[in-house]
Amino acid sequence: MEFDDVQIALCDLEKLIPDAVAQALRDENPDNLLKWLREKLPEYAEPGFWEEAPPGGLNAFAAQCRHLIWNSLPVPGNNFLPRPLPQPGRNDPGPCGSELKYKWCCAALPKPSSPDPLNLWPFVLDQVPKQKLDEALAKNRLPLEGVIAAAMNHLGDEGHEKAVDLLEPLFGGSLKKPRPGLEVALERCRGWRRS
Ligand SMILES: [Zn+2]
Repeated sequence: MEFDDVQIALCDLEKLIPDAVAQALRDENPDNLLKWLREKLPEYAEPGFWEEAPPGGLNAFAAQCRHLIWNSLPVPGNNFLPRPLPQPGRNDPGPCGSELKYKWCCAALPKPSSPDPLNLWPFVLDQVPKQKLDEALAKNRLPLEGVIAAAMNHLGDEGHEKAVDLLEPLFGGSLKKPRPGLEVALERCRGWRRS
């Protein structure tokens, strides 16, 4: 079994990432995210896959997933900035809990690329309670790109309500008045995304 195969073929990342973000933001504790991944990863793989994997494989994979997701994640309790885990030293214990030194276990795994933080914003902002979100928007705590990425994700929803809520503060309340205001705003967002 090649580690890359697991990553590419067997893990349903499109489902895993939003679920893992929701879990991570429940208490903003990376240790609990790791526990959750160890328990839940098999549900995102082909049935039975992890039963055949070598011992420790699941834990190493969970540790790597945790590292990739957590380190790119805007943390609401940290002013929406990531709180990356320190990179283990070669002689530190492996983050997977194998009791081997890092250099003998997880360090040997290939390093897949991290998710683009921009791709995480929609899932992050979906988890933030409306009041906290409005406050952060009003105080300009959220990067424009992140807000737009989240709003774009809600386009096509019935009434675009969430998209409007997110974009409203950027346009000084003009979005909710005439309908064309929304269309103009969205057109501008599409322009920003392209540039
Ligand atoms: Zn390890």
